[in-house]
Amino acid sequence: MVSFNKNRCKGCALCVDACPKNIIQLAKDEMNEKGFHPAVCIDQSACISCAFCAMVCPDVVITVKK
Ligand code: SF4
Ligand code: SF4
Repeated sequence: MVSFNKNRCKGCALCVDACPKNIIQLAKDEMNEKGFHPAVCIDQSACISCAFCAMVCPDVVITVKK
């Protein structure tokens, strides 16, 4: 399971590219407090908890739990 500290996200999309399951997207219809489209997980059930997304995030937005 993966969770995002939404208001810390700067929408750089590094996590989108890092996810081997392609389940992270930037929420095009949503904006956070900084004015960016935040990253979201579109299918928690497909997450393999590899934590690649958390490792590449420069702003420590992502937490992965098994
Ligand atoms: S932990 Fe792995 S599978 Fe899950 S969202 Fe992050 S990169 Fe994708
Ligand atoms: S890598 Fe971090 S800051 Fe960049 S889009 Fe993903 S969650 Fe947001």
